[in-house]
Amino acid sequence: MIQRTPARIEAHLSDHEHRSWQQVLSESVTCPEELLRRLELPAESWLSAAQQGHQLFSIRVPEPFLARMKKGNPADPLLRQVLPLADETDHAPGFVSDPLEESAAIATTGLIRKYRSRALLMVTGQCAVNCRYCFRRHFPYEDQRLSPDDRKRVINTLAASPEINEVIFSGGDPLAVNDRLLAQWVTAISGIPHIRRLRLHTRLPVVIPQRVCDELLTWLSATSLQVVIVLHVNHPAEIDTATRRALGHLRAAGVTLLNQSVILRGVNDCPSVLEQLSETLFDAGVLPYYLHAFDPVAGAHHYDVPDEESRHLVRELLTRLPGFLVPKLVREEPGKECKTPINLFP
Ligand SMILES: *Cc1c(COP(=O)(O)O)cnc(C)c1O
Ligand code: SF4
Repeated sequence: MIQRTPARIEAHLSDHEHRSWQQVLSESVTCPEELLRRLELPAESWLSAAQQGHQLFSIRVPEPFLARMKKGNPADPLLRQVLPLADETDHAPGFVSDPLEESAAIATTGLIRKYRSRALLMVTGQCAVNCRYCFRRHFPYEDQRLSPDDRKRVINTLAASPEINEVIFSGGDPLAVNDRLLAQWVTAISGIPHIRRLRLHTRLPVVIPQRVCDELLTWLSATSLQVVIVLHVNHPAEIDTATRRALGHLRAAGVTLLNQSVILRGVNDCPSVLEQLSETLFDAGVLPYYLHAFDPVAGAHHYDVPDEESRHLVRELLTRLPGFLVPKLVREEPGKECKTPINLFP
């Protein structure tokens, strides 16, 4: 590896749009010192906590996402999603490592089945960005690495389950995997007659817009399955011109675009931000889908917003937006057959 000088890093910032997504992904910032230096934040105030958090769940921020943050602002809503704070090492009662008890719902290695008609396939444990509040930050992904035999078992399980009509590629981030492997999965799945829809839960088109490359668009356009992509955007500043263009390509390939957000203290716990998020998403061709109440994951209690406040926020959105731009406020509860809607007018 060539040691990069600061001058080269700056050059690289301006030309990241012309690089392949694999290159951009591999050049993500994964070091606490570099993250702080790039954002011009003083190490004295932030480094020790960042390093401690990094030990628990490593820092990972791709360049295009970093480039949308404001320098010198520790409260930047994008930075807040990726920079570990001292609060991560606090122990808060009720905040646990597997809040959704997903380990109990594994149908076969790599396949999580909680709901009747949809099965969730953990294509990879890798993500392009490590979000501090992620409910999977403690998930034992190592156990979920799929061998060719595991893959056969997944396809056999799906083929033997006629109630399943939709397969959700999840992870990690399924688009962190190369298109050759994804296309193989899709070919195998589209051979199962009762499966009609393919859904991808991904942040990649947002954090690395180059991920929407010709190879991806080729298999997306070619499949006989209906494709839905559910993005994960929490703040309107996450969507820039390059993202907008990438989303336009996905729409042109016939993909339905939806978005899910998590309500997060200090990121989007404000009616104007959520209003602007819905407007910006729709402008980019994306409909809001879910607004998730915070899952009580250990190390992330400082993002928690109480239900009473979330209800108030969404009631406020109802007065500001057309109904189709108001996301559904839900919570995922272990053992339930669907997401649980949170009653806005209890
Ligand atoms: C959220 C989730 C789904 C999808 O639920 P929808 O309500 O259809 O979006 C499917 N499987 C699992 C395990 C999930 O957590
Ligand atoms: S699974 Fe989603 S929320 Fe979790 S770290 Fe990856 S991109 Fe972020």
